[in-house]
Amino acid sequence: MTVAIAAPRRLVPREVPDWHEAGICRAFPELSWVHPGAADPFSRPLKAEREVAELACRVICAACPVRLACALGALERGERWGIWGGLDFTDRKAVAKEFGYELPGAAPEHGTNSRYAKWSCRCPDCREAHALYESQRRPRAAQRRLAVADEPPVPVRARPVRLDLVAYRRRTRRRAARR
Ligand code: SF4
Ligand SMILES: [Zn+2]
Repeated sequence: MTVAIAAPRRLVPREVPDWHEAGICRAFPELSWVHPGAADPFSRPLKAEREVAELACRVICAACPVRLACALGALERGERWGIWGGLDFTDRKAVAKEFGYELPGAAPEHGTNSRYAKWSCRCPDCREAHALYESQRRPRAAQRRLAVADEPPVPVRARPVRLDLVAYRRRTRRRAARR
């Protein structure tokens, strides 16, 4: 008789693109880009809170050096939730239609905090990813709260966020051709 022994379960790390480290949002752990305006991933923010938080995210994205890579990554993954590269669901849908991407709506893979928070998946991999995400976010958020406590509020003028995808593609093609 043969006995099947299950292989030990291992969390397969998601490939994290190297531009992640350069994202400005890492310096604002008190803001949620996945669920703007919500104190925790399960609460429903008031419309006004959500709008203010979304604007803050977009303004920060507008100054981010990796904005295009971030927005294109979200388009390629078919991200349903959140603001990526300054684009929300509606913006992504419009860009996806124009440039032939799948319409946003794909569920993120298991083993990600998004799948845990937004798709309520409680599989072991998603729980593990959520625990890891929170263990990194909380200390950053606490540090940030201390840092901003004494800062005077900075007036921010919102600029419309526009992605020039055509120019970006042309540039990356030119760069690839030069290699
Ligand atoms: S574009 Fe926005 S969401 Fe993307 S890495 Fe930069 S700040 Fe973060
Ligand atoms: Zn899962």
